[in-house]
Amino acid sequence: VDAPESHIPETHIPETHIKVSNRDRVIFPESNVTKGELADYYAQVSSIMLPFAGSRPISLVRCPQGRAKACFFQKHDAGSFKGDHVHKVAIPEKDGSSEDYLYVDDADGLVACVQMGTIEFHGWGSSVGSLEQPDRMVFDLDPDEELGFDVVKKAAADLKEHLAELGLVSFAMLSGGKGVHVVVPLTPQAEWPAVKDFAERFARALGAAEPDRFLATMSKAKRKGRIFIDWLRNQRGATAVLPYVARARAGAPVAAPVSWSELRDIDAASRWGVRDAAALIARARSRDLAGWGVADQVLPDL
Ligand code: ATP
Ligand code: MN
Ligand code: MN
Repeated sequence: VDAPESHIPETHIPETHIKVSNRDRVIFPESNVTKGELADYYAQVSSIMLPFAGSRPISLVRCPQGRAKACFFQKHDAGSFKGDHVHKVAIPEKDGSSEDYLYVDDADGLVACVQMGTIEFHGWGSSVGSLEQPDRMVFDLDPDEELGFDVVKKAAADLKEHLAELGLVSFAMLSGGKGVHVVVPLTPQAEWPAVKDFAERFARALGAAEPDRFLATMSKAKRKGRIFIDWLRNQRGATAVLPYVARARAGAPVAAPVSWSELRDIDAASRWGVRDAAALIARARSRDLAGWGVADQVLPDL
């Protein structure tokens, strides 16, 4: 599958127009990953990441003093981003007012966010050109802390089968944290309420069919030994972590697309990290991951 590590070529770091200050600041104390390394990581993976992360409203996890210090979740433009690299899009809220959200569409945009202390990028399930019609549905599998990764992998594979029975192709992504996200690409057509309704009913049906394994409610107290199928990512304004995003967790793991067959042999959702840019790029171009995250399909009646 993979070329042996030693055969993976050094990856060229694309030039960006962003001056990154404090390049030597350690952002991940457990592994000494610096701000400069994080910026270079995003520049390197930008070409494989942007097809999934570009041109959609994003929320940022910013940790200006590093992942072990205070972090905050930023949804709206707060005047933090000067220059042309991080774009704004006005989105109407339920009450009729309008708020500026952020999006990026190139390596400069990603690196400009890192310059401002960003570690993680989370995205809407729709893009700025078609905000009300999601192009992606996500089932975020959140296991009870006591469960091993084997149980999560099996659950993800079972979701894939159930989706296939409904005529839907899906793809697996390691979250970089504890779980797996099952990603269902959609041709933008159905609007948010229909996608949310489908996701909720799908999750509740699995919870009802196999109550020992799954539940569709967030309550951590009730999760005991089970996996929460988090369908709530599929409502307007909700976000999910985007492919290739570095997580603000010990060891600088990244969210990594995987094929269904290789998922069986993976031991943890934190299998790859920010020092694996070259391997991630080689993988993304491999036959295994060809077509990952791409399918022209609409929701069936459920
Ligand atoms: P894990 O596999 O460890 O669960 P995850 O990325 O799926 O990793 P979750 O805690 O399940 O993490 O969160 C799911 C999503 O909810 C996140 O990816 C993010 O987009 C969103 N989210 C997380 N924290 C916040 C927050 N403070 N405010 C708004 N949305 C959040
Ligand atoms: Mn999760
Ligand atoms: Mn979740």
